[in-house]
Amino acid sequence: PQRIVVRDLASRLGVSAAELIKQLMKQNVMATITQEIPFEVATAVAENLGFTVQRPKSAEERFLEAKKSEASQQAGKLEPRPPVVTIMGHVDHGKTTLLDVIRKSRVAAEEYGGITQHIGAYQVEVQGRRITFLDTPGHEAFTSMRARGAQVTDIAVLVVAADDGVMPQTVEAIHHARAAGVPIIVAINKVDKPGASPDRVKQQLAEHELVAEEWGGDTVMVPVSALRKQGIDELLEMILLVADLRELKAPVDQPAQGVVIEAQLDRGRGPVATVLVKEGTLKVGDPVIVGAVPGRVRALLDDRGRPLQEAGPSTPAVVLGLSDVPQPGDSLMVTPDEETARRIAQERLEKQRAEQLRPTARMTLETLSKMA
Ligand code: GDP
Ligand code: MG
Repeated sequence: PQRIVVRDLASRLGVSAAELIKQLMKQNVMATITQEIPFEVATAVAENLGFTVQRPKSAEERFLEAKKSEASQQAGKLEPRPPVVTIMGHVDHGKTTLLDVIRKSRVAAEEYGGITQHIGAYQVEVQGRRITFLDTPGHEAFTSMRARGAQVTDIAVLVVAADDGVMPQTVEAIHHARAAGVPIIVAINKVDKPGASPDRVKQQLAEHELVAEEWGGDTVMVPVSALRKQGIDELLEMILLVADLRELKAPVDQPAQGVVIEAQLDRGRGPVATVLVKEGTLKVGDPVIVGAVPGRVRALLDDRGRPLQEAGPSTPAVVLGLSDVPQPGDSLMVTPDEETARRIAQERLEKQRAEQLRPTARMTLETLSKMA
């Protein structure tokens, strides 16, 4: 909402005040020489007079430009990062059981004292390397996040129950992963069950162009029993293998950028957001803008509630210190200072409000015409 006095605008444009006032009247704006007019009106008049008007840059534009030039100076400093894995599949095929088994098999019991925090993501260590699992319902991770332009998954593990076979949500999951360009590893689950038939699953998947390696295709399929904890190590090894083929890398030594996995208001701690760091390193004390929410990182916690000083690429971290609760899929960016974060938040809120106002205005017109 910037404004300019008519006299100042006239002198900047090099026209007389009388001429400018005449031009304003053509736009149905009655103004005196000492009055202020909104930027939009000044722009329209100046353009009518043959000028090209450059809009002042928003705080966000200035921030992004500075970030871009910084990034180009640091180009090339990429380091390997852990893969981010989403578990997908038909209901009751064993997604939750598998996620629990993977988590527990890799976490020493005494380490987390029996308290499992649900933060929407966790990391496990396999052969000295880390894998990040998203713990949110697979479909949600793909649909709601991708709708917001956030691509967080590197590998999809498709769980198919060997006794039940390919079902509607299995097919849906395949489509989601393909649309996102994410490679699929199939976990053929429940192989312990009497009616289990891994071959039938492979045959059904082949009909959807997922052909097992042992059948001459290129899709890794691992028989597992989440219930009996069988095949889990093989599955994890395959995830690392597929990750290696993707050569996943990210810059580490720069201000962080990430995505909100989930967020809620905690009675004691205020707004709490689980953020997956995509690039750079998030540190305690960093000023951040998350969606339209500004803040400063007061504390970072890992998936077991332990405090962290910083979180690098592919690391999920609980962020405390935001001024409000952001939305899943919102992006997080570290800003040079809190003022920049606040300005960007303000601009984004104004934009959101303007977008919300538009349909309302239309509705009012419709309502009016109905009444007439
Ligand atoms: P989700 O809906 O995909 O998350 O499926 P769940 O993990 O909730 O599992 C659904 C049911 O299948 C539960 O009763 C599990 O105990 C059972 N289940 C999961 N994995 C296995 C398995 O490997 N073998 C057997 N026999 N049952 C399993
Ligand atoms: Mg489940």
